[in-house]
Amino acid sequence: MKTEIIEINALKRAGEIIRAGGLVAFPTETVYGLGADALNGAAVKKIFEAKGRPSDNPLIVHIADKNQIPLLAREMNAAAKKLIDAFMPGPFTIILKKQGNIPDEVTAGLDTVGIRFPSEKTAAEFIAAAKTPIAAPSANISGRPSPTRAEDVIFDMDGRIDAVINGGACGVGVESTIVDASGPVPVLLRPGGISLEELQSVVPETIADKNIMQTVSENEKPRCPGMKYRHYAPKARVVVVEGEKEPVQKKIRELLEENKDKIAGVLTMYGNVYDSAVMICGGATNTEYAKNLFAALRDFDKLGADIVFAEFNENDGCGAAVKNRLYKAAAHNIIRCCAK
Ligand code: AMP
Ligand code: MG
Repeated sequence: MKTEIIEINALKRAGEIIRAGGLVAFPTETVYGLGADALNGAAVKKIFEAKGRPSDNPLIVHIADKNQIPLLAREMNAAAKKLIDAFMPGPFTIILKKQGNIPDEVTAGLDTVGIRFPSEKTAAEFIAAAKTPIAAPSANISGRPSPTRAEDVIFDMDGRIDAVINGGACGVGVESTIVDASGPVPVLLRPGGISLEELQSVVPETIADKNIMQTVSENEKPRCPGMKYRHYAPKARVVVVEGEKEPVQKKIRELLEENKDKIAGVLTMYGNVYDSAVMICGGATNTEYAKNLFAALRDFDKLGADIVFAEFNENDGCGAAVKNRLYKAAAHNIIRCCAK
C-alpha cells in the first residue's frame, strides 16, 4: 500500500477514503490521529493492525458537531453536560455510556465510549467531509512517542495506512485530557491540555484518578490510558532530572561526565548549557514543553542519542500532562534535585 499525502485543501478525498473503509491520519490540536469510520468494525480493526496496538486499548470517537453526541452516548448527566459546554470543541475527551451501534472494536468491549470534538479546523473539516464519526488513537506505532508533525506519521506509518493529511505541527502537543463522566462524579483519567483546576472550575466535584502517575502490572485491568503498556518511548534511554535550575544543571553535568562513552542528549527547560551533549530546547514553560516534547524525543533518536537527560519542573497548568508523558517515556527513571 502506498501512503498518499493529502493537502488540507483536498479533504473531500480524505472523506472518500474513510467511507471506503480506509485509514487516514489527520492533524488535531493535540497530536496526529489515525482515523477510521467509527461505525465500521472492519475498518477500525485495521487501526490496531497498522499500529500494533493491543486490542484491549479502546479508541476515542471524534465528532465535528455536538449534535452527534446523543447518537454515540445513551446517557448524559448534569456534570457531563457542563463539561461538554465548557470544553468542547477542544483538547478534551469525555467518557459516557455508549449506544449499541458502536462496534466493540472501538470500545474494546467496554460499555462506555470516549468522545472528542477537536477544535483544530482541518480536523473538524475532515470529520465533516467523512460524514461519519471517526475512531482514532494517536497515529504512531504502539509504544512510540505520539506524532505531532506529518513527517512523524510518515516515519512510523508509511506503507501501513492509506493517507495522511499534511497539516503542519500540532499546537498543544500532548494528547487530550480524558474525563470519565459515565458515573455520578467526573474522574480525570489522563491529564492533557485542560488542567484539573480548569475542570474543577466548571464541576468542583471532579477528582483525579489516583493511578494517573502509576503503571499497572500485566494481570491488572488498566483504568487510565497508557498505564499498562510502555508508552511514549524513544529508542534512547530517558532520565528525568527534576528541580530548580542550578541543582538540575549540576546534576546533569555529573551525569554527562559519567556517561562520556555514550551519545548523550539534554532536553532543556532552563537554557542551561552543557558540553558534549546534543541539546534540544523543550521550552521554558510547561505549555511550550508539551508542544515540543514528542517531536524532541523523536529527533533525539534521529540524532543517534543513546541516553537523554530531560530537565523538568512543574510550572504551569500543562505541568501534569507533561509530567505524565515524560515519566512514562523515562519508565519512571527520575532524579529529583534539591536546592543544595
Ligand atoms: P491514545 O491516545 O492513542 O492512547 O488513544 C485513546 C485513549 O483513550 C486510549 O489510551 C484509551 O485508554 C482511552 N479511552 C478511549 N475510550 C475509553 C473508554 N471508554 N474508557 C476508558 N478509556 C478510554
Ligand atoms: Mg497513543
